[in-house]
Amino acid sequence: MIRFENVTKVYDQKSRPALDGVDLEIDRGDFAFLVGPSGSGKSTFLRLVLREEQATTGEVHVAGKNVARIPSWRVPKLRRGIGVVFQDFRLLPNKDVFGNVAFAMQVIGQGRHVIRETVPEVIKLVGLEGKERRMPHELSGGEQQRVAIARAIVNKPGILLADEPTGNLDPATSVGIMNVLDKINQNGTTVLMATHDDDIVNSMRRRVVELAEGRIVRDETGGEYTAMI
Ligand code: ADP
Ligand code: ADP
Repeated sequence: MIRFENVTKVYDQKSRPALDGVDLEIDRGDFAFLVGPSGSGKSTFLRLVLREEQATTGEVHVAGKNVARIPSWRVPKLRRGIGVVFQDFRLLPNKDVFGNVAFAMQVIGQGRHVIRETVPEVIKLVGLEGKERRMPHELSGGEQQRVAIARAIVNKPGILLADEPTGNLDPATSVGIMNVLDKINQNGTTVLMATHDDDIVNSMRRRVVELAEGRIVRDETGGEYTAMI
């Protein structure tokens, strides 16, 4: 589903590469953690998958396509196949829960009927049934993250990328968010989550890919993680 072949990303000739000769394959249906300290290259990896950045050398393949060969007018189509969740939720503050999720369908031109059918299903999946009319500021952090996840998956992407999704949440709330991500993965979505939350990684026992200074230093199934910072 995601394949990096000897990928190096240099932003700035005077510094070391952000990613340095990365080879990695994540199969359809996998759940993988991308771990490593701040500056190790996790965000760069995710940005390369989304083609927000391009590899300096090497190849990035997503859903069978070399992303460097996708013409720019087709990049939105690539991104439609990838849901993204961030640490800071990024909800639309003036839309309620339903509206935030529906908006993701509206922008790709889905009709009212399919929106009215699909949005409640996804809201239920993330555990927010009954909160459709709440505004973001009326929700806890964990609930806001559930809305963000609902919005990320409502168009049924094959891949869900999560960049520190539990970074602003307390441990108990984080466990609830991980249960939602696990359920989405069990429904067939490939999940890649960048994190330095070692408690979460150790409780899930999934694949762990560890970066240090832009290189993969470990790739373990059912792995653990000890954050050094
Ligand atoms: P992480 O997500 O693990 O914190 P990043 O991918 O953000 O790591 O950063 C990897 C390295 O690349 C760091 O040294 C960072 O300073 C550098 N970097 C990231 N984005 C840029 C950018 N847009 N321009 C220049 N350097 C960058
Ligand atoms: P996080 O790891 O918390 O997601 P990052 O440190 O990766 O945040 O980067 C946040 C933003 O700042 C990104 O858009 C990235 O491109 C930019 N950035 C990161 N490091 C640098 C840098 N050294 N020089 C310029 N821009 C950077």
